[in-house]
Amino acid sequence: MAQERVCQRFVRYAARGQEAHGILDDGIIRTLEKDPLSSARETGESTPIGDVRLLAPCKPSKVIAIGLNYHSHLRGRPVPEQIGVFSMFPTSIIGPGDQIVIPPDTDNVHYEGELVVVIGKKTKNVSPADAPDHIFGVTAGNDVSERAWQRDDLQWFRAKGSDTFAPLGPAIVTGLDYDDLMIETRLNGEVRQHESTADLIFCVDEIVSYVSRYVTLLPGDVIFTGTPGTTSEMRAGDTVEVEIDGIGVLRNEVVGGSMA
Ligand code: MG
Repeated sequence: MAQERVCQRFVRYAARGQEAHGILDDGIIRTLEKDPLSSARETGESTPIGDVRLLAPCKPSKVIAIGLNYHSHLRGRPVPEQIGVFSMFPTSIIGPGDQIVIPPDTDNVHYEGELVVVIGKKTKNVSPADAPDHIFGVTAGNDVSERAWQRDDLQWFRAKGSDTFAPLGPAIVTGLDYDDLMIETRLNGEVRQHESTADLIFCVDEIVSYVSRYVTLLPGDVIFTGTPGTTSEMRAGDTVEVEIDGIGVLRNEVVGGSMA
């Protein structure tokens, strides 16, 4: 299982006009030579976290998500017999501290705090038992969702895939027991979601196995695993935080978009 691995916190960041990857430890980032999915060799340089701007911790080729994966989120809908998968886009992703931009032609955009799996190597047709070996680590995500568009779109194109609708971060953490992590979502500091990933209907290893039957997963690809409980509307001026044990806080402000 993944918990046998060393627990490390990997971040991507911008400093002095450059993007880099590093290992975050006690407020200090130790710079890596390259993407940790390729090599975790350190350069010997380090930077205090306060001197950098954190970015989304990886740049996936695919952003996949699971819907209706907690009993508490079903609200009368039947328990799914099969994993419900949908897609977002790499351009949906923003990093910690970036702004969630609500498109001007909507006003019912909800947060969805979720555990997000980061794939570590090329993955095709893996069993649930072998899935942990293909998972690099986990991070926090907010599956921002426009509820009217979710009803009207083909494949939730706008509802889930609009720019800025997939905040991700702050770090990818290895070695956590991802089958029992507490997720808490706060809107303007008020707790709105609070539930453990132990309550997932389809667990992380089942999800990775199922998706890999149909789609080849590549290093850095991410899978949002579903949101617990109830969600509510976010408005311009709000701040939403998704906190997951061992991962940290993903904080984003909400702003209104212009028609330009
Ligand atoms: Mg979701």
